[in-house]
Amino acid sequence: MSGFGFSEEQEMFRKMVRNFSQKELAPGAKERAKQEGNREMAQKWSKKIASVDLIGLGVPPEYGGQGADWVTVAIAVEEMSKADINLGAFPVLPALMAKSMDIGGVSQEIRQKYLPAMCKGESMLCLSITEPNCGSDVAAIRMKAVREGDHYILNGEKTSVSGGMTADLCYIFAKTDPGAGARGVTSFLAPLDLPGITKSRIPDMGFKNVTRASLFFDDVRIPVDHRLSDEGKGFYMLMGTFDVLRVFLALSVLGAAETSINEAIDYSKQRTAFGQPIARYEGVSFKIAEHATRIEAGKLLCYRTFWLADQGIVHTKEAAMCKWFCPVVAREAIHDALLIHGHVAYSEEHPIEQRLRDAIGYELADGTADIMKIIVARELMGKETRPY
Ligand SMILES: Cc1cc2nc3c(=O)[nH]c(=O)nc-3n(C[C@H](O)[C@H](O)[C@H](O)COP(=O)(O)OP(=O)(O)OC[C@H]3O[C@@H](n4cnc5c(N)ncnc54)[C@H](O)[C@@H]3O)c2cc1C
Repeated sequence: MSGFGFSEEQEMFRKMVRNFSQKELAPGAKERAKQEGNREMAQKWSKKIASVDLIGLGVPPEYGGQGADWVTVAIAVEEMSKADINLGAFPVLPALMAKSMDIGGVSQEIRQKYLPAMCKGESMLCLSITEPNCGSDVAAIRMKAVREGDHYILNGEKTSVSGGMTADLCYIFAKTDPGAGARGVTSFLAPLDLPGITKSRIPDMGFKNVTRASLFFDDVRIPVDHRLSDEGKGFYMLMGTFDVLRVFLALSVLGAAETSINEAIDYSKQRTAFGQPIARYEGVSFKIAEHATRIEAGKLLCYRTFWLADQGIVHTKEAAMCKWFCPVVAREAIHDALLIHGHVAYSEEHPIEQRLRDAIGYELADGTADIMKIIVARELMGKETRPY
């Protein structure tokens, strides 16, 4: 090995993002987390993050972005998530959309129409797969897309869409061939102001200001040039998207866990019990040592996976490992950070209780641990281990 770490440029970039995040995003994170999000609030933060060129980081420069590699985008997401986990993921979907448009051969007109506005933070994107009857089993989606001339007509219900109440655009998956299972799925870019779309907010236990929503499509006409994949290729496009998206979720929740453990370290040095700072008790310091080790291991797994992605090396197994392992590591670390703070943290006034609720959301979002372990086992042991 010739080196093991970040380049000097990446370290400088991390410092810049950390300064911005701690100065602009961390203050008020606790208050924001209690509020139901709305479009005005989402756009205010989207534009603020865009003002320092962080939203379009992974989008090519010809569409208004910075053209950064995945490792660099990950550095930004980690640092922003340490400050406010609910704002940390802003750079992720624009980068994935640019990638999907590239893979799908979407026209230059459509890319120029949408990507620069996303990079400026003016236009926000959500991702919609889950339906009331299916989440893990993506191939079972029922939303229909029927071609009629130069449009597709979409009908059906989506749910659990993060940012669904505030987004302008939706990266959505529907069936163009309902009888064909995974081979019948096609992906589209749907402007959410089209006639026939209605929304309803989900009253979440965490992520309140991210605004998870159900979306109802009733004869919604999507122009053919807004199709992102070839007909029947949407499922495979989604699996490629997940191989990156899942790693971002994993790294983001580790950022929140690291902040919680750092807060527990500070607290344990100033809180006394039985005449000594609680930091001197191994029941406290060993917990911190163990969680810090697990968080570090999780981060290494995430960054290695992003590095594989940057090299163009298949990383399906590693992405699934990140997505089952890191949210568990994070939830356990945040839980113990709360216990180390004692009664003080068992309160809506304390940021740790919110992060604990958010971490549970990360265990579910974009695939549960069970589904991730099926993928890891399949990649390690072969297709004959698949339960279906
Ligand atoms: C905070 C949050 C944000 C989300 N954001 C989005 C979003 O932006 N867009 C979107 O489309 N979706 C989103 N989701 C939905 C998420 O992707 C789904 O919740 C997830 O894929 C699981 O699907 P499900 O909830 O329908 O559970 P189900 O698929 O019904 O599974 C229920 C339980 O059964 C287990 N199970 C299912 N099949 C198997 C199996 N073969 N082997 C073992 N166990 C199995 C699962 O692990 C789970 O514990 C979000 C969810 C949350 C909580």
